[in-house]
Amino acid sequence: MLLKGKPVADQIKNEIRGAVEACSQSGRTLPKLAILRAGSRPDDIAYENRVLKNCDDLGILVETVVVDDNVNMVDFVSAVNRLNEDQEIHGILIFRPLPKQLDMDTISRTIKPEKDIDCMSPVNAEKIFMGDKSGIAPCTPEAVIEILKFYGYELEGKNVAVVNRSMVLGKPLAMLFLNENSTVTLCHSKTKNLPEVTAKADIVVTGAGKARFFGKEYFSPESVIVDVGINTDETGNLCGDVSFDELSESVGAISPVPGGVGTVTSMILLKHVIKAMEQQTESK
Ligand code: NAP
Repeated sequence: MLLKGKPVADQIKNEIRGAVEACSQSGRTLPKLAILRAGSRPDDIAYENRVLKNCDDLGILVETVVVDDNVNMVDFVSAVNRLNEDQEIHGILIFRPLPKQLDMDTISRTIKPEKDIDCMSPVNAEKIFMGDKSGIAPCTPEAVIEILKFYGYELEGKNVAVVNRSMVLGKPLAMLFLNENSTVTLCHSKTKNLPEVTAKADIVVTGAGKARFFGKEYFSPESVIVDVGINTDETGNLCGDVSFDELSESVGAISPVPGGVGTVTSMILLKHVIKAMEQQTESK
């Protein structure tokens, strides 16, 4: 089975549309996202354009703040603080990676946790690790769980192998799977006998960031594979971590790249703007 992202994203989009309509019918302020971007990297611009288009479709307001990629800490922190204090802004997205002169740790502690829609703040990370549902998870791990649930996979009791231990993917994803009562193995570049570990798992999430790295030997005919990798191959085409053409007919299920996790991730971001807005309204 092909685990396409679009039907999952469409379902989330409908839920968001309902929430935005409820706001405008009851005369409440509309949800508003702020995007803070340093510099103009092409991949940031491409992602931003997708977010802007989705916001436009859904009636979510957006403010984009662009600063020079040579911006200093004082100016960047003051830009974050201005967005923190703006009562009309519910969610803030700061593009990462940040330019190297900026201190990620300070900035992640500056963004208000209740407006932090992509889990930069240690407060949100802690909530995810504590299983506190008021926490806002990083978008990509949540997209993985949403895809599996949408396609009807029971997660409780399943053996899951996640090949990635970063703070944006593997570690929070392990916590989300644990919250679903899965049994999780976190794998990384020093894992011994990786093919043996992944082939035994019911569900495998690949996020090594290596084009078509995972071939047949890593899976069983029943494997359910969610490929998070976004890579460009030697001909400049976008591809995942899994050798899709070799495997798509011989495993239980697989998500494509492009058209899989990335499609859902950008919609989860907007779902988080709504969650942030609802939590801010409740706490007033
Ligand atoms: P990262 O920080 O470089 O993490 C890569 C992880 O893969 C590390 O844990 C690394 O192990 C592990 N790894 C690398 N080579 C390996 C190997 N040969 N065997 C086993 N493990 C290996 O990257 P990231 O930021 O987490 O992103 C990972 C991928 O996901 C990238 O392709 C990125 O583009 C993609 N991504 C996609 C989305 C989306 O929405 N679809 C969002 C974010 C990222 P060590 O820890 O030992 O180094």
